[in-house]
Amino acid sequence: MNPLTYLLISLELTSIVLTAIFFIAWLSFGRRQYALFWSIAFFFAAVQWLLNLSSQKIPFPFEVYWMLVSASSAVTLSFSVAGFRMRAKLPNRIHWYLIAAAIGLAAIAWFLIVDPHVGLRTAIGPFFATLMMGACIHAIAYPRHLQPADWGMIISAGIFGLCEAAAAIAIFSGGSAGTQESLDIYRAINFLSLPAAYTAMGLFTVLILASDMSKEMKALAMSDSLTGVLNLRGFEKAASRALSAARRDNSPLSVIVCDVDHFKSINDRYGHAQGDVALIQFARHLQGNVRGQDIVARIGGEEFVLLLPGTPIEAATAIAERFRASISALKISSETSQFEIQASFGVATTTGAEDEIDHLIKRADEALYRSKRDGRNKVSVAS
Ligand code: GH3
Ligand code: MG
Ligand code: MG
Repeated sequence: MNPLTYLLISLELTSIVLTAIFFIAWLSFGRRQYALFWSIAFFFAAVQWLLNLSSQKIPFPFEVYWMLVSASSAVTLSFSVAGFRMRAKLPNRIHWYLIAAAIGLAAIAWFLIVDPHVGLRTAIGPFFATLMMGACIHAIAYPRHLQPADWGMIISAGIFGLCEAAAAIAIFSGGSAGTQESLDIYRAINFLSLPAAYTAMGLFTVLILASDMSKEMKALAMSDSLTGVLNLRGFEKAASRALSAARRDNSPLSVIVCDVDHFKSINDRYGHAQGDVALIQFARHLQGNVRGQDIVARIGGEEFVLLLPGTPIEAATAIAERFRASISALKISSETSQFEIQASFGVATTTGAEDEIDHLIKRADEALYRSKRDGRNKVSVAS
């Protein structure tokens, strides 16, 4: 066997392994659809290398073989890009991919059959790969705070994209008849870069999946399963960050603690499930009516806290008063009942750099109990 065959077999096996890895990743990592897309991408890469491997023995004309190889490669690249765009929650319009692939394939067919040009028909594929690597990089870098795995993938896709551009230029420079020299350079670039590129991109993509999972798990561990707002643990983390920022900027930081009034009797009267509905709507109301930098958390059964950076005591008191009024006007509704709730509030603001978050909450809690003692549905401010 010649060395080229060994290389093709190695690429074939790598593609099959990566197809299986992404399929298993799809099965085990919460059925993320983009993992399935990457599995499909490598499956078509395997198809492409199989065609390459059997190029001497296939029973149909060279033109058909060339178009099939090109089409498999287009499908591989399209599914990779679509996977990354899906992960970034960017729109994936199937007709974009079809149009791009159709233009590329039509151009290849033209320079293969109508106006034969070895340089052009061979260069279009790698040139398309360069464009698609650019699209992958865009989708990875687009919305998010980048993880190390994202950087790994961006760099791998960047290097591979440049290699493909170099391969396209090399084969194009061979002209319409193609030269042995240009073909040798083209092959050297491809066969030197492809195994490393497949391995790097495959592994970095698996790492991306794992880091997405771990990020999601962390977020889950910090959030309350009933209402979706932060839980006590998430609140403590966010609060310590907010307190450090307040100290650094010497700006006020306020907390509002609120507790649903007579919640036990709501449960008793309408049932625990309706009580849950009330808590969900209560939390949604808080979350929907604060600024982006404010933090909402559920720190007890029917006790919530709002953390308001850069907010002095007067403004925080006004916000608490606004919530008190809007909550008592809120209609808690479900399929079986509709009822109203009320809540009591306690407000406290950091007065000095020495304040700890626990101390701040304790003072807000004392104010809250004053609201309860004074008849509920009230706002009290910590002294
Ligand atoms: P107060 O006005 O003094 O706050 O009276 P309250 O009845 O609201 O307070 P109490 O602490 O006596 O009762 C709180 C109730 O909240 C008791 C508990 O069953 C209920 N509760 C706690 N967590 C949940 C929950 O997740 N879902 C539901 N439905 N009820 C909950
Ligand atoms: Mg209560
Ligand atoms: Mg309570």
